[in-house]
Amino acid sequence: MVEKQDTITKGLDEAIVQKFKASFRGELIRPGDSGYDEARKIWNGMIDKHPALIARCTGAVDVINAVNFARANKQLVAVRGGGHNVAGNAVCDGGIVIDLSRMKGIRIDPVRRTARVEPGLTWGEFDRETQAFGFALPGGIQSTTGIAGFTVGGGFGYLSRKYGLTVDNLLAADVVTADGRLLIASKTENSDLFWGIRGGGGNFGIVTSFEFRLHPVGPVILGGMLLYPLSKAKEVLQFYRDYSAKVSEELSIFFGFVTAPKAPHIPEHTQGNPVLAVIISYAGAIEEGERIIQPLRKFGPPDVDLVEPKPYVTLQSMLDAANPPGWQNYWKSEYLKGFNDKTIDILVDYAAKRPSPMSKIIIGHLLGAVNRVKDDETPYSHRDAPFIINIISMWSDTTKNEENIKWARDLWNAVQPFATGGVYVNFLMTEGADRVMAAYGKKKYERLVALKNKYDPTNFFSMNQNIKPGKL
Ligand SMILES: Cc1cc2nc3c(=O)[nH]c(=O)nc-3n(C[C@H](O)[C@H](O)[C@H](O)COP(=O)(O)OP(=O)(O)OC[C@H]3O[C@@H](n4cnc5c(N)ncnc54)[C@H](O)[C@@H]3O)c2cc1C
Repeated sequence: MVEKQDTITKGLDEAIVQKFKASFRGELIRPGDSGYDEARKIWNGMIDKHPALIARCTGAVDVINAVNFARANKQLVAVRGGGHNVAGNAVCDGGIVIDLSRMKGIRIDPVRRTARVEPGLTWGEFDRETQAFGFALPGGIQSTTGIAGFTVGGGFGYLSRKYGLTVDNLLAADVVTADGRLLIASKTENSDLFWGIRGGGGNFGIVTSFEFRLHPVGPVILGGMLLYPLSKAKEVLQFYRDYSAKVSEELSIFFGFVTAPKAPHIPEHTQGNPVLAVIISYAGAIEEGERIIQPLRKFGPPDVDLVEPKPYVTLQSMLDAANPPGWQNYWKSEYLKGFNDKTIDILVDYAAKRPSPMSKIIIGHLLGAVNRVKDDETPYSHRDAPFIINIISMWSDTTKNEENIKWARDLWNAVQPFATGGVYVNFLMTEGADRVMAAYGKKKYERLVALKNKYDPTNFFSMNQNIKPGKL
């Protein structure tokens, strides 16, 4: 253990850390401290890394000091927002975690319809504050996800068909760069950096404050799930395939091959069974939404109809119980050109043979406002892809890693003929340089490398879906 601890804390002896402490307002957590094991945990239970130091920042100055300290002491750096990223880059072995999770300030300007937000907020916390004023922003469909890593990767949710990606609503950001400067990034200031952080991930610096445009939404919105037995999934997806091509932008549809929970609102005969969940939300007048979703309610009909007017914050946390922290997680994702009968057969087959009931296949329907923004406006790409599939393998028994990982990989291989070849950077595990390139395409990737050369030539920010600096 002593040997392991020495390796972890390499280059960071007590005296150096004590000196740093004098310049730091937040909390410093080291191996051996009582909160250390809790502080190094992230959402994906598969990630078990041991940083030499966790620097829990209170504000931008702490972030600047942590960056300067890490650079001076040649330490590997990981940046943690909400700690939800499945790849586990929010924490490192050895080195320093610059932990933003306690930076939770938010200020709403109800007149300008904007929000100034610190990077430690989760979507649940963000929604709570903005909804008090009747506003929302396209954000994650799980309330515990962090806004920071989410935003710098692009970000989509139930409101995206109507209001675009999260980055399409980003007006400005404060960014601490690798040399310890704090830069304002917006359309008019450091506009190249502003371009880079709208999908280029954490490659260019640490965002200490985001300014977002807000939209009037809720506080009550029509949404929820329709559940169908797996035996009916094929005809339901055939119906939705055609239906989704012509629906209005207010209507958002996500499909989930999931296990029906054992919960009081689910009829007993459905509990614990594999089902197709059609997750619906309507970002418009409730009566209009009720009219528009009539054909959906009639088709089948569904076994369980849980679609009703509900608080937007309830809709946004509806899936939380299905994605608890600490489970083993292995994901594979891809954008889909669409789905034909063959794809549907594959999905139903793999849904039936999930090795773990917690595993799921989620398909999101995008386009709409996402596709109205020009492709070169942001690093986030593949705006013309109608669907995105996320194959989520989730299990708890670590002796069963192999079969659970295999299930996700096999399904991913099977859907390749229907995939666009593009991938969403926020759903990537550690999958190699080709997959990072696939998130952007060659031309944009080269633009990102040029930006990396300018803002982070030493690859100080390397714990991410890394864009390596160097020759183009
Ligand atoms: C259950 C679940 C549901 C999800 N649902 C959605 C969804 O609906 N839509 C969607 O688009 N995505 C979704 N995601 C994916 C999500 O976008 C990513 O996991 C995202 O990285 C989470 O952000 P975070 O701050 O929690 O992550 P972290 O793990 O803390 O950070 C991820 C990475 O982002 C970078 N980063 C973090 N903070 C900053 C910062 N302040 N400045 C610069 N870089 C930073 C770092 O490189 C870091 O490694 C979901 C993930 C999970 C686990």
